[in-house]
Amino acid sequence: MILPKNNRLSPEQLVEVTAIVAEFGCKIQQIVGAMRTIYAIVGDERDELMINRLEGLTYVDRIDRIQSPFKLMDKRSDLASHRITMGGVTLGEELLVIAGACTIDPKNPNYFYETAAAVKEAGANALRGGVWKPRTNPYTFQGDVKSLDILMEASRRTGLPVDTEVMEEAHIKLALDAGVHTLPVGARNALNYSLLRAIGKAIAERDNAVLLKRSIHMGPLSEFISAAEYIAAFGNPNVILCPRGTTPTLDGYRNHPDESITPLLKEKTWAPVVVDPSHSVGKAIYVPAAALAAVAYGADGLCIEAHVEPSKGIGDDPKQALTPEVLKETITQAKQLWAIRRRQSVVQAK
Ligand code: PEP
Ligand code: MN
Repeated sequence: MILPKNNRLSPEQLVEVTAIVAEFGCKIQQIVGAMRTIYAIVGDERDELMINRLEGLTYVDRIDRIQSPFKLMDKRSDLASHRITMGGVTLGEELLVIAGACTIDPKNPNYFYETAAAVKEAGANALRGGVWKPRTNPYTFQGDVKSLDILMEASRRTGLPVDTEVMEEAHIKLALDAGVHTLPVGARNALNYSLLRAIGKAIAERDNAVLLKRSIHMGPLSEFISAAEYIAAFGNPNVILCPRGTTPTLDGYRNHPDESITPLLKEKTWAPVVVDPSHSVGKAIYVPAAALAAVAYGADGLCIEAHVEPSKGIGDDPKQALTPEVLKETITQAKQLWAIRRRQSVVQAK
């Protein structure tokens, strides 16, 4: 839909816009109002170049797109009934909880084994553990490939599927060959399109899933969903969106909590939303409330950092990991709230 700066386009301007859209196989349909005329683009209006050329015209105020730029992830796409399953939970039918350490300590594997057993006991459906870590400070521990064996051993011991963030192409193969089920893309790489493409290609013929974290910098929701589209475009649509807080931070929290975008995402995409409250607020004492807020906003799941003894952990664990006891209580409350929330959506849908 073309909205001109003036009440209507001049005949010359109409000729110009008609010629531009014709290059992309579209036509213009005028919608004449009492005060103003607007111009519908009839045809496939998703071509970015056509939109950019129209937006570049000095007499055009703005272009409102009717069609979604995401063909696969859009709520109205054929994939809308697609369901993703992890750890026996079908997203949307039951609350999914992924929990575990921020960073696996390769020198002390028992902490991770104990954490894995404890998060399972607390009710988690899948286990997280960082093997490779994107650290802001280049001199801090960057992760160690040896931790991949620890992660997989914990998976064998508990029977839980595991996730570990991949930051480069080489990690993807190592993780998939080892048997990692879910590949998180971290907030720093959420807009790294070559990595997204590489992941999409690598999982195209498999049933793995991707936990796509929201970029650390606040961007429009369409940017987040389009990043998911990059992966799904290769053939595997198992992409879960993960709000995890953005910058600029909310003074006192690690990031600016963004679980409130969940209902907005759900209006645009069928993709499940699993919120990470740990990185959002960044301190263990705030995490349970943030987790419940996410569920209240309609999240399908939570990804929470937990450690059997947080003060002995590495990476983010000393400050933001929940103890197994707090995790268990948080999961219990989150499941109760999820059930309430589900009843409410059923009533609203009537
Ligand atoms: C993490 O999960 O430990 C992590 C680094 O996440 P994010 O990319 O959201 O910061
Ligand atoms: Mn972390």
